[in-house]
Amino acid sequence: MKRRELEKCCICGKGMAHDNAITFYRVTIEHMVLHLKNIQRRHGLELFFGGGQPGAALAEVMGDDGDIAACATKETALVCQDCGITGGCLASIFESMANRKPAEESKQIEAPIAEVNE
Ligand SMILES: [Zn+2]
Repeated sequence: MKRRELEKCCICGKGMAHDNAITFYRVTIEHMVLHLKNIQRRHGLELFFGGGQPGAALAEVMGDDGDIAACATKETALVCQDCGITGGCLASIFESMANRKPAEESKQIEAPIAEVNE
């Protein structure tokens, strides 16, 4: 990771080293949506082949292997050690990631590396 890639913590808004920690997290969350039509099609095929484990196994081989879920949105952000430990629920973290400022604005406000070296 390069200096230009550093950004503020998406949860607390502070620099990655604000508490003199030398570790932080880079988190990627994918918000998935079930593909109900493919799930119903697969379930129907499993029932057609007798259901249970054998039906599922046959449907796996004979089916069209369509996706049962797809990524609706995906966010990647940095989380400081403090927030990584105390955290919160995934949904609120995802909201923080989605609503954060663009990286360029975030970097101009604070210099996280300098905090560790001083
Ligand atoms: Zn934080």
